[in-house]
Amino acid sequence: MADAEASKGLDILPISINLKLIPDAIMVPMWDSIGPIDKDIRKFCKNITEAKIFDSFTNNSKLQTFFARHSLSEINWTFTKLWLAHNETNSIYSSEKSKKDAFKLKSLNHILPCGDVLSAHYPSLYNPDILPIKCPICKTTDDSNQHLDQSHLIYLIIHNVVPDHLVTLIHTHTRNFKLTKSFVMDFMTHIQQYFYTSIWCRHTESMVAWEKHTGIHAKKTKMRRAKRRAQNKKKFQRLPTSNVLPLKRLRNHHLPCNFAKFYDARGHYDDRLRINYFQCDNNSDLHVPRWIILTS
Ligand SMILES: [Zn+2]
Repeated sequence: MADAEASKGLDILPISINLKLIPDAIMVPMWDSIGPIDKDIRKFCKNITEAKIFDSFTNNSKLQTFFARHSLSEINWTFTKLWLAHNETNSIYSSEKSKKDAFKLKSLNHILPCGDVLSAHYPSLYNPDILPIKCPICKTTDDSNQHLDQSHLIYLIIHNVVPDHLVTLIHTHTRNFKLTKSFVMDFMTHIQQYFYTSIWCRHTESMVAWEKHTGIHAKKTKMRRAKRRAQNKKKFQRLPTSNVLPLKRLRNHHLPCNFAKFYDARGHYDDRLRINYFQCDNNSDLHVPRWIILTS
């Protein structure tokens, strides 16, 4: 009897609700004239936004290399997302974390500075006679992000994408999402560390040695120095910061309505500093936030 009750719901018709007949309903939110939004509007919007982001992510031209070699079903997107957001370091913000995140994204998007990327970015440094640049380690194949993994078996892992096979293999043993996640993250961290030291660092060292041998390294140093000099020159030409009223000073002192306009060193009105700060004198109005007025 219990089985019969449980399977009852499978055969009956779905429940239809005519929203027009609900007297207290103020409005019925609709999605693209398709149907009513029948759940929490934030969750509803989140699903749509995520679908849109995922769509634009998979259409990224740099990722087409993956899809040429692997079908979408071979990739576990949930774990790939978790891995890309995973912090391997002990700090929330550090240069080490930034470095690791940058490496992850560059490797995923196939833009690590290999021969093909370098010659495309600095055409003046690499003479057309030496193109395409050969891999500095094996010296036979063209140097590219695709060449970093020769075996092809762990291509996805090396490029920071979690294969579905890996997740399934671990999950059949753990049967627990949290545990699977922890194993996958540890596994990815170890593989990435191994890849970084054994392949990428070796590749970079050999590339630098080759660039020194061909004279490209000296040209590159010269170019970087010139760029730095130009940047410094720009920095010194900027407005001295003492001209800008500090926010803190305005907050601590009950200044009468403060109004100032800012001009750059040449006496021209500076467009970036069009914010005038107003603070009212009335002490009883302390809870009222200070107004920031954009003047035209
Ligand atoms: Zn090679």
